[in-house]
Amino acid sequence: MLDLSRIEELRRADVPPARHLIDGAFVAASDGAEMEVISPLDGKVLTSLARGTTTDAEAAVAAARRAFDDGRWAGLPPAARKQVLLKWADLIEEQALDLAVLGVRDNGTEIGMALKAEPLSAAGTIRYYAEAIDKIYGEIAPTGDGSLGLVHREPVGVVGAIVPWNFPLMIGAWKLGPALAAGCSVVLKPAETASLTLLRIAELAQQAGLPDGVLNVVTGEGAVVGAAIAESMDVDVLVFTGSGATGRRLLEASARSNLKRVYLELGGKSPNIVFADAPDLKEAVKVSANGIFRNAGQVCVAGSRLLVERSIHDAFVADLTEYVRDMKVGDPLDPATSAGAVNSLRQLEQNLGFVAEARALGRDIRIGGARTLQDTGGYFMEPTIVTGVDPADRLAREEVFGPVLAVIPFDSEEQAVAIANGTDYGLAAAVWTSNLSRAHRMIRRIKAGIVHVNTYGGSDMTVPLGGVKQSGNGHDKSLHAFDKYLDLKTAWIKL
Ligand code: NAD
Repeated sequence: MLDLSRIEELRRADVPPARHLIDGAFVAASDGAEMEVISPLDGKVLTSLARGTTTDAEAAVAAARRAFDDGRWAGLPPAARKQVLLKWADLIEEQALDLAVLGVRDNGTEIGMALKAEPLSAAGTIRYYAEAIDKIYGEIAPTGDGSLGLVHREPVGVVGAIVPWNFPLMIGAWKLGPALAAGCSVVLKPAETASLTLLRIAELAQQAGLPDGVLNVVTGEGAVVGAAIAESMDVDVLVFTGSGATGRRLLEASARSNLKRVYLELGGKSPNIVFADAPDLKEAVKVSANGIFRNAGQVCVAGSRLLVERSIHDAFVADLTEYVRDMKVGDPLDPATSAGAVNSLRQLEQNLGFVAEARALGRDIRIGGARTLQDTGGYFMEPTIVTGVDPADRLAREEVFGPVLAVIPFDSEEQAVAIANGTDYGLAAAVWTSNLSRAHRMIRRIKAGIVHVNTYGGSDMTVPLGGVKQSGNGHDKSLHAFDKYLDLKTAWIKL
């Protein structure tokens, strides 16, 4: 699939200025304003986006509302919606490489990962929900003879979806797949630094036969477009992936407006815990490195805290450092690259700020710690391992969202659990051990939405992804995701 000559061709292809998709038409911002899209590969202008206004967001919500209320989509038999969504997934798959390269030029993810995790994953997600929707039944309640209780499942209505820049298609499809399959209409707000591929797949949705107004995409600033969606009286459910600060604002906006339900996925500070009895320490080294450094650490479930049992700490860190030394940072369109670009200069500066603080505290920067490949103009950072981190350090408590690994030794299972649970987050975790009882104890005791055992980061559409504590509420993926987009309605009938 990685056709190198095609990648080179696409790398240079002109990207026309992007427009919102509202009510089936690609339109400029209401005041004509645009914003530059800077590629993290070279720091140069790639194209421009419509800089959305509150008026644009409101127009999109109104279009979504009309589309929902007249039943042009929600009123179709589920099997008919399924056909459109399956066709959409096929179109995305046919254009997978073009979409992946466009996405890499926009957000900097390594091409090999981008191809699988972005268009191909999005196509798989859309298929999964398309295939599921005509297999979901209502219920008949176990009542007495004199009455009949029916439980209907109805689409919630208009969904606002605000998504981030690290995996726009994958995360976008986690929201769009179940929302559209359920019959909802959607107003999607992509991140400023990763809007292009979502607009492209929205165009493919139109081609697949999705009626006008069912999927609307409004680009621009979060504080303007995102805020207008969050404040809208006509958005029934808001789904979001991104930072905790924005998540809080969305909850406040809901409280101020129509009490729309708000589902948040807010990242983490996930502990990757290696016991001395791990079945294969070499494998643990490799997987742990990739679990933090792929996509330059810009992964919500990244294993950004490495907890290592003290008896193996020094040897494990030495092996990890050697492994990381061989990781190739650079051009994300080169398939040999293991860690691509940081998404934006702002994110790069944030990453470097964490390292500077750790250094000032006297922590040991084992490898990395600096910006690299500056001559390219792009935003690249060396994979960075920091040892001797205190669990109280900001680096051990706050999400960097960059290629910075905090290493913390521990002496006992009890202490590992205490450190693992010692942050405000609870998204992912991993435990490396050969002891079956310990593995199960840790699964029960770690407060996280997913606990991996003897691996890191694996899962598929069949299992939910969501966090506890300040990592969020609600789940993406699996059939459980439908809970956000389908309301339960009771019919109580006297017989
Ligand atoms: P962010 O939360 O600001 O942006 C995420 C999305 O929210 C974007 O589409 C953005 O336009 C929108 N948004 C921003 N402000 C808004 C507002 N006031 N109202 C409504 N929508 C708004 O995140 P960011 O600035 O792109 O990244 C900051 C940090 O967030 C990162 O460093 C990382 O820690 C975290 N993050 C987490 C994930 C994840 O997968 N959980 C993804 C991206 C970023």
